[in-house]
Formats: sequence, structure tokens, C-alpha cells
Amino acid sequence: MRLKGEVTFLRSKWCWKTKNIIREDNLPNNTQLTIYEAHQQLKQKKISSVELTQSYLQRIQHVDSRVKALVSVTADQAIIQAQIADKMIAAGECTPLTGIPAIIKDNMCTRGIKTTCSSKMLEHFVPPYNATVIEKLNKAGMVMVGKANMDEFAMGSSTENSAFFTTRNPWDLKRVPGGSSGGSAASVAAGEAIYSLGSDTGGSIRQPAGFCSVTGLKPTYGRVSRYGLVAFASSLDQIGPLTQDVRDCALVMNCISGHDPSDSTSAPQKVPDYSKSLIPDVKGLRVGIPKEYFVEGMQPEVKAAIENAINKMIELGAVVDWNVSLPSTPYALAVYYIIAPSEASANLARYDGVKYGFSYQEGANMWDNMEKTRQFGFGAEVKRRIMLGTYALSSGYYDAYYLKAQKVRTLIRREFEKAFTKYDVLITPTSPTVPFKIGEKTSDPVQMYLSDICTLPINIAGIPAISIPAGFAGGLPVGMQIIGKPFSEEMLFRTAFTYQQATNWHLNKPVV
Ligand code: GLN
Repeated sequence: MRLKGEVTFLRSKWCWKTKNIIREDNLPNNTQLTIYEAHQQLKQKKISSVELTQSYLQRIQHVDSRVKALVSVTADQAIIQAQIADKMIAAGECTPLTGIPAIIKDNMCTRGIKTTCSSKMLEHFVPPYNATVIEKLNKAGMVMVGKANMDEFAMGSSTENSAFFTTRNPWDLKRVPGGSSGGSAASVAAGEAIYSLGSDTGGSIRQPAGFCSVTGLKPTYGRVSRYGLVAFASSLDQIGPLTQDVRDCALVMNCISGHDPSDSTSAPQKVPDYSKSLIPDVKGLRVGIPKEYFVEGMQPEVKAAIENAINKMIELGAVVDWNVSLPSTPYALAVYYIIAPSEASANLARYDGVKYGFSYQEGANMWDNMEKTRQFGFGAEVKRRIMLGTYALSSGYYDAYYLKAQKVRTLIRREFEKAFTKYDVLITPTSPTVPFKIGEKTSDPVQMYLSDICTLPINIAGIPAISIPAGFAGGLPVGMQIIGKPFSEEMLFRTAFTYQQATNWHLNKPVV
């Protein structure tokens, strides 16, 4: 498919476009708006939310059979929400998210709407309540057009662990979109919604954001309520936005952040107006480049793209130290794969066929039913993690594994603390590679685990990090990760915004 207008890059089957280029497929042009732009149009009554929503539903119908980003399309409810949003707008009660079509990862509870976690265990689970983020978005006038596919229980890096199907990367349908929020990232890249929410336990917002060339933020632990997020590893999980640019990311964060009495780990810190941090100025910004993140086996084209991006930051006035060392970084993978499975093994004990979810009933007795519920309800990766975690927590091994991992976790956190006395932000690649082919890593879990090597340490330390588009390698997206100290989201937005004002990687869209 060709694009009319100014095509900046063309590679056999795939084209990249700059803004204001009309897709030749005659699909509604308004499926290319950012939140900010759509909000202006809604406010000025150039378009109604119902029209906007219909355009996105049409776009979903057109592309999702190929991209497969969604486990449910919530068309009827979306139209009702859009009608409500139009009334809010007419009454002058419009927030930046009012009437804007969004997609939600399917591990966030939505009252009356299936929340499957892409697992057979929850295939028919209809929550009786909303997650706090959903309550907040609803209040702001969200229009939810669908729920996004993911790796089962958010365990994975490619969506290949979904019990239903694998999502495709809109930049190359033979490749993975990343994971576990692969559906959320792919849906935004493919124009199926204006923004989405994902969750990030070890990289699941940032890695797919990098793979799909969208902007994704993992907020500081405690910044966004986890109430109603299906738990994977409770000390690491955090909800965050996936958007087309940094401005939109700030707008979503304004809505979803803040203290929640229903989540005892949510932070009481005041929420600033994040849009105020969108200032294109990094003069004198102290940037550290931790060398351990340029790991062995990293693709040279990815390294080159990130180095170019860093040079751009220098051009814009940042002061860069290329020689930072965070020596405990190589242990992060081992620490993560002890702590995350341990917490998962405890959290997933609730799926026993008695309370809710899938229930096997044909067994010889109660124990047999419980065993078979878990045998048939969980996929291979989830079982692998439960077994790993149960082993690490068992008496006799607890000190050697779990306790040791917690101690190294403290070391990792302290190294970051120390680094942030000298630097305002740290910059690394989001992933060591571009999106890999579907099936390429499924037979080797350790290879798959390595794709999160640059993102895991951030969850271990509980700090925020954003991934933004920073170029292409062989026509495939490369993400740059900007890391900050706890509650420094404003600094991340300012840094990332300055970069996006000076580059146009984030304006490139795949043609699906
Ligand atoms: N890929 C990592 C894992 O499989 C991280 C997942 C996540 O952040 N939810 O655990």
C-alpha cells in the first residue's frame, strides 16, 4: 500500500509517513489524531465523540484481523460512553480525555466486561467492579473500544504466551509486538485507539512500546493505583500509559496517578500537573549512560541508533557522561526471576477452581478438581513460574534464593540512588534487539528472558522510566529508555518531550 504525500522512508512492503499524510485505504483520517489534537477538535465541536469512536471501531474492523491486538471489542459500550462524553462536552465539563477512544490491557478489571488476562483460567471472568484506573478514566469521560491481548498473567515478552493468539507487530506482521502489553502497544501503533494502558512488572510497557515505536511510561512504584489490576508480582507491578507522544503520556498520567486508599502500596505524594513539565529545554541536564546496559549480544544497529539519540541530546544542550557504571546490573535478571515468580506463586494460589475463574468439576475428589483446574487452566509459562517461585520460597531454600535476591535488590536500588546524586536522568536502550520473529525464542525461555535485560532493573528499584521512539534499524523500531529517580516523572517528560520536539521518529506510523 502506498501513501499519498510526503513519504520519508520506503522499504519494500512497509512505508513510513510523516504527519498529515492521508492513508490511501480511505479509512477515516481522524484515526491518526493524538489525544491533544482530538481534544481540540472535540472542544471546538469539529467532530463528536460518537463520530470519532465510530472511526476507531471501523479502523479496528479493518486492521485487527491482521494485527490481532484485541481480545474483546466493546463497540456497544463504547458508543454509549461516547454519547455520554458528547453530553459532557456540550455541558462544558470536558477533560483532555473526554470522548477519547482508548484500549485497556486485559488484566485490569472492567465491571461487566470480560477481563481474561489472556488465560483460560479467567476466560469467562466478568469482574463485578472496576480497577481504580478505570474508575478514574470513566470519570474523565473515557471511551473504551476494546481490551488488549497480552502474555498470560503478564508473564512474557512477546504475547506468544497468550492462551488465545499471538499479537503481530504492525511494523512487520511476522514479528512480535513485544510483551506482555503487546496488544496495548500494537493497537496504538496500528491506530486502533488513540492511547492504551499497559502494566509493567519487568518491562511490559516499555519493551513493547520500543518494539512498536510508541511512547510508554512505567511510573514510580506507588504512583498509580494497582487496585483491580490482576496481580502478577505485587512489589514490581505498575500500570502506565502507551501513547503516540510524550504530551499524551503526560495527559493520561494526570488522570490515572494519585493516592488510592484501596491500594496500601499507593503513594500519598501529590500529583503535579504533568503537562506543565512539557518544556523543550534540556540545557545543562546531567545525563549518565550506564555502560552495563550496552550488553554483549546487543545488535550493533540498535547501539548505533541509541548513540545517535544521545548525540542529539548533547546537541540540545545535555551534558552527557558516557562512562557511568552500575556494577550490580548483571545480577538484575537473576534477582527478577526469583522475586517475580515467588510473588506470582503466592498471588496465583487463589485460582483453585473454588472462588472464581475456571473450575474443573469431573475429578475424583476436591483435591483432584483443584489440581486439574490448575493443570488445564494455566499455560506452560505460568506453571513454570509457579514452580520456580514455590521452590524459591520453600523452607531450606528461602534464605539461599529469596532472601539473597532481596539483598541484591537493595544493592541495585542503592546504586541507582547514588547515580541520581550525580545525574538527573540515565539513558539506555529499551531492548538489546529490534522486534524478533514470531516463534524465534519460544523454545528457549532464557533467551526470551534476556529481552528484558534493560528494563528489569528499573522495576527492581521501583523507579520510573519512559521508552520513546529513537529510530529504526533495518526498518524496525528502536526504543530509547530514560530513567529517573523516584517521582521524577516530570523530569522524564521534559527530557523526552525535548527529544520529540527535535526529532520525528514518533510521527512515523506503520501501514497495516
Ligand atoms: N517479560 C517479563 C516477564 O516475563 C516482564 C513482564 C512484565 O513486565 N509483566 O516477567
